[in-house]
Amino acid sequence: MLLNIKSPRGYKQMANGELKNANVQTVLVVDDEAEIRRGCERILRSEGYRVLLAPSGEAGLDVLAEEPDIDLVFVDLKMPGMSGFEFLNNARRVVSETEFVVITAYATIESAVEATKRGAYDFIAKPFTPDTLLHLARRALERVSLLRERNRLQAERQERMLELGTEKSRLRMIIDCMADGVLVCNAEQVLVLYNPAALKLIHHEALNKQNLPVAEVVATQELVEIINQVSQQQKRISSEIVLSAAPTKQCGLANTAPVIDPTSNQFLGTITVVRDISEIKQVEAVKAQFVNMVAHEFRAPLAAVDGYLENMEAGYIKDVGKQEEIIKRSRKRIGSLVELVNDLLNMARLESGMTAREIAPQHVAEIIDAAVFTMAPLAGEKHVRINVSLAENLPPVKADADELQRIFGNLVSNAVKYNVNNGVVAIRGQVDGPYVRISVSDTGIGIKPESQDKLFREFFREKRKEARSVGGTGLGLSIVKQLVDFYHGRIRVESKTGKGSRFTVWLPAAV
Ligand code: ADP
Repeated sequence: MLLNIKSPRGYKQMANGELKNANVQTVLVVDDEAEIRRGCERILRSEGYRVLLAPSGEAGLDVLAEEPDIDLVFVDLKMPGMSGFEFLNNARRVVSETEFVVITAYATIESAVEATKRGAYDFIAKPFTPDTLLHLARRALERVSLLRERNRLQAERQERMLELGTEKSRLRMIIDCMADGVLVCNAEQVLVLYNPAALKLIHHEALNKQNLPVAEVVATQELVEIINQVSQQQKRISSEIVLSAAPTKQCGLANTAPVIDPTSNQFLGTITVVRDISEIKQVEAVKAQFVNMVAHEFRAPLAAVDGYLENMEAGYIKDVGKQEEIIKRSRKRIGSLVELVNDLLNMARLESGMTAREIAPQHVAEIIDAAVFTMAPLAGEKHVRINVSLAENLPPVKADADELQRIFGNLVSNAVKYNVNNGVVAIRGQVDGPYVRISVSDTGIGIKPESQDKLFREFFREKRKEARSVGGTGLGLSIVKQLVDFYHGRIRVESKTGKGSRFTVWLPAAV
């Protein structure tokens, strides 16, 4: 059984099981002469060093391989087998923080030079006194300690630099990837950092030049003023700014905060984050315009009905026939209001995505029949003929029946409403590749070319004297377009004023 016993503090378990005090330095003596080995061991031990012995260069290398953190090696130059110089060569490849001292019987300048060339720290001539050995050992070991400390500090510094480097580049990457523009200025309002989003959002003149005052670099004057103000008052400012003037009008929200050193309370500079809020502004404007239009659409019929009722209440209209006429007109105006409310509700439901649909294959013929049936009374009034011609092999369309009804109901209704008396409405249905193509053509008043691309906008109605008496909300076609888009279809309009119009819808066939 293997026992994993933890070494006592400050001790290290060696390969041979021995516990080594981490503060005690180790000296290896490599010499073929047993007497020298034993003598060195005794002298060095007396000084408190841990001593290991090897009788040959080969055995010395084995010891080093097992314990590469040996501090000092005394090695005899002249040994049978591997010589001291060969040992030095090989040992240098195994260890890097160990000092070597060669022991030589012929203390010549040449052997000393050769030894240092091979990486030895010094040499000692045989025979030597204990003092000479200890003196040399102390010097060499001191050098080892210094060398190890220097290496440790160097490695530590390198690691810290590496950590700092990655931390810095990570931060830089985050800032560069931000969709909001970031501008960092120092206390002197010199721009010291910015990201690509800032380049895109703000007007700049010399951003590529380093360390210039922000006023000389950023052309968006409002932003410069904000940074200036925050630098002076050292208080956060959040303000809407114009990033680019009309026609590309872009608005931004600039948030500038002072940076204060928490220890010294010293003002260090400012950080500005600029967000593009052009889209939000546009949505707000469209919403306001929409509310305005809806209010306008409500006001006219309500005011008319209110007027009728006021006259009735005041007793101005005595004639029963006239009274009936007024009630009829009021009901018509209220009917158009109900129609408007229904269209608005349909649109809101479509836009919110909250519509509950029952999607199933629907037979186009049934949908068209229902639309024609609904419009029959008005068509009859205007003597408009409705012709339906659907291909026999027309596949069903996968959709919600009510929504298909709304699409074709609107198109057929418009074709009758905006038709001339005694006109014709032709409904055709064909297969077109993977689509079912349905066209609704009329012989009515047509649509002016300049109005044709506005037809699908909410509340758009053409101002035409021919259609002055035709009621409507201007929402029908925008609902049709949204529904066709929802089913991944397409709608096209072709029209000629005075001749008529054709609306063609493609919807994917159910397969
Ligand atoms: P509404 O019919 O309620 O006004 P729509 O959104 O259905 O609203 O139509 C928008 C406008 O497009 C209509 O007011 C009309 O000016 C024009 N329009 C639509 N269909 C036709 C058509 N078949 N012929 C002529 N004009 C049409």
